[in-house]
Amino acid sequence: MSLSVENSPRGQQTMRAARFHGKQQLGHLSLDVVPVPQPGPGEALVQVRYCGICGTDTHIVQGLPGSLPVVGPRTLGHEFSGRVAAVGDGVGHLEIGQRVTSDVNFSCGHCAACYRGNPHLCPDMLGVGTAIDGAFADYIVVPAAACHPIPDQVSDEQAALVEPLSCCLHGMDRLSVRLGDTVAIIGAGTIGLIMVQLARQAGAVHITAVEPHPHQRQLALQLGANQAVDPSHVEGAWDKVIDCAGTPDSAALALRLAARGATVVFFGLTRPDDEIGLRPYEVFQKELTITSSFVNPHTFGRALSLLASGGIRTSALITRVLPLDHINDAFGQPHPGKTLVEVSAADDRSNP
Ligand SMILES: [Zn+2]
Ligand SMILES: [Zn+2]
Repeated sequence: MSLSVENSPRGQQTMRAARFHGKQQLGHLSLDVVPVPQPGPGEALVQVRYCGICGTDTHIVQGLPGSLPVVGPRTLGHEFSGRVAAVGDGVGHLEIGQRVTSDVNFSCGHCAACYRGNPHLCPDMLGVGTAIDGAFADYIVVPAAACHPIPDQVSDEQAALVEPLSCCLHGMDRLSVRLGDTVAIIGAGTIGLIMVQLARQAGAVHITAVEPHPHQRQLALQLGANQAVDPSHVEGAWDKVIDCAGTPDSAALALRLAARGATVVFFGLTRPDDEIGLRPYEVFQKELTITSSFVNPHTFGRALSLLASGGIRTSALITRVLPLDHINDAFGQPHPGKTLVEVSAADDRSNP
């Protein structure tokens, strides 16, 4: 049994947490010892098993904005799996030890956006790992209602991919792939490789992955792309184009690759002040639909169902597993694929 949770001299239970400390300490997270949070009414304390490192975590560590603003000190990490360690008053549907993942964006529930069914557009939305403490820590507190039990067919590693997969599902919903569409996916990192598989499942008849790295192009072909090409060589026009790379060049390329009547989705995060040139005449002439995709409203359950069905191949996506104490290795050299942080071992059940 690991004793990651220890009693401090004052008898207060403490845990490890990898925290962002703001502009003064860019480039890495600080490995701090902090009190174990306590679940209030309607909340669950989850012992974290794995937490994935998202591109937005890297942005935040570098001092760039992620999906939402972050003020330090803040424990990052929002792509996690774990097991229920304790529950607050009024929680009847979760059992201690139950494997769960959790929705990570919490909306107010009573503003205009929330009433219209767009909780992700709520101006008061709070995000795990941005506005509230995340899962690069031994324990995390989340609303019990946000917890989703992990089906037996889904491993703890896979369950840490539910959050990015659910973002991809929202992106695919925005892309509106129809049976027989041709689809171009720009960027074949973890997100792009998930998109390739989802586009295939959605009935795309021809999928092109646009990606500079030969190894990632090879993976795209293995996971269902018909064609994988370098961005400098791509020619043609597609019904649906999604930019998962999030640079000015890739966004401009997405517009260039759009066929007449196409839908273009800006999915990857650019820097806030990045700009691209756009010819309204071309948008008009092609009657383009240009849209984007923000986080993952209402898609967690479907993401879990897809993983449980075996419809998404994940083994090629997870390329590195780091222990929590070595999390900063992830913020050095760029690394293709998804890095998971292993916070606790499978048989490591401590009760704070
Ligand atoms: Zn993320
Ligand atoms: Zn709201």
